[in-house]
Amino acid sequence: MTVDKKKKGAKSHHMSTRMCVACGKRSASVHLLRYIRTESGRLELDRKHRKGGRGAYVCGSKSCFENALLRSLFNRALRGKVSFDRNRMLSEFEG
Ligand SMILES: [Zn+2]
Repeated sequence: MTVDKKKKGAKSHHMSTRMCVACGKRSASVHLLRYIRTESGRLELDRKHRKGGRGAYVCGSKSCFENALLRSLFNRALRGKVSFDRNRMLSEFEG
């Protein structure tokens, strides 16, 4: 007989959730944008969520993204200073 202690677990394990660095809202990671810090310290959009290393997530809200850029929230989430071109990042975000 196997002992099943996880019967109550209604949430599936393959839907990992992540928190938006700006508003703190949790969503399934597939609904968030993932950003990483490259070796040269640049902030980069990881569209397919495939790049290794630490990622920072932002929900689809543009104000959250702007806040994250303005308030250096990416630096905190990625544990290091990231450089970026604000206009380029914003147009990528919208595109
Ligand atoms: Zn947000």
